[in-house]
Amino acid sequence: MRVPIALLWLLAAPAALAQTPPADEAAMAACLPGLVARAREQGVTPALAEAQLSGLPADPDVLAATGRQAEFEKPVWAYLDSAVSEEAVADGRGKLATEASLPAIEAAYGVDRHVLAAIWGIESGYGSVLNDPRKVRPVLRSLATLACAGGPRVATWTGELVAALRILDLGRTTPDRLTGSWAGAMGHTQFMPTTYLRHALDFDGDGRADIWTSAPDALASTAQYLRTLGWRPGEGWGGEVVLPAGFDYRLADETTVRTLAEWRGLGLGLKPAGREIGAETDTARLVLPAGARGPAFLLRPNFQALLGYNTAFSYALAVAHLADRLRGEPGFVRPWPRGDRPLGSDERREIQTALEAKGHPVGGIDGRIGPRSRAAIRAWQAAAGLVPDGYADSTLLERLRAGN
Ligand code: CA
Repeated sequence: MRVPIALLWLLAAPAALAQTPPADEAAMAACLPGLVARAREQGVTPALAEAQLSGLPADPDVLAATGRQAEFEKPVWAYLDSAVSEEAVADGRGKLATEASLPAIEAAYGVDRHVLAAIWGIESGYGSVLNDPRKVRPVLRSLATLACAGGPRVATWTGELVAALRILDLGRTTPDRLTGSWAGAMGHTQFMPTTYLRHALDFDGDGRADIWTSAPDALASTAQYLRTLGWRPGEGWGGEVVLPAGFDYRLADETTVRTLAEWRGLGLGLKPAGREIGAETDTARLVLPAGARGPAFLLRPNFQALLGYNTAFSYALAVAHLADRLRGEPGFVRPWPRGDRPLGSDERREIQTALEAKGHPVGGIDGRIGPRSRAAIRAWQAAAGLVPDGYADSTLLERLRAGN
């Protein structure tokens, strides 16, 4: 699933959804028979697809949430502040003390219990959000609304809808219990229906993979899924590092993998928070999510497994950091550049357009500053004699405007 799921709960704030225009009921009614046919083609029992989808009304809150998502780009520190709050740390430590399945799952699957608890906390507030009727929605209605809304992700939503119907067809749960976020992410650790079909398992031994009401089932399913995403037992995710004075920021290109011994040789301080990131021969890549004025991180392969769970960098860093805090480790040493003004999507597009015009391709003007855009920023910064940290902020925008 390629949606930053954890961000989705935050978007579903009722106050923001109150001004939503009514959904196009006629379009929904015209679209549903095609979805029933698609489900039938994919092997779902026709009567079940017909009974579950026919006459389903569009969910205007779901449509409103998709509209807001495109504009949404919270600074990494703002996301961390909310996801790794003192309350989240205290609640997580409580869960680690009381949820007896966590050590058993760690032993069975080789995934650190603190990481599992952190995913649980960020995805659903350790399950608390599942009891909030304002946020938990019928999955079939959400996914049918999204599949009928058009846009570039229709095939994805349709596939998830068919998978949700298949969950019912297999008798894994009942229609009234098939609930999730507005984007159809379900249960304690927010599995999409396709993920459920591939990875959900029964850990508490009642014979059902119940990620909605059984935390042990959801957490064990998550551990198993992380293993398939490449999680390496006994290894960490990486950690914060300190860069030396005069550091060549072109080395922080997010992709080049070096051993910890090599990074140390380049002058990096590997233990700012007092913890070993790994052995000298372990490999990691260097990432500066807020540029030269924010903290720097060496990321090991397990961080990539977290990005497989959810592609948003802020999400993966929040899981990693919450896990560390649950283990009793301190916060980051270097502060974030909190005074920065967040750029709007028009400004991000303007940056991309300017970079393209100066001969630094960004891989498409989409208003999203991803790896290609950051590489283009670094190339332009280096050519302009600036610190090449690849960070898009208002200063960069002004310099690009000035033709610097
Ligand atoms: Ca079970």
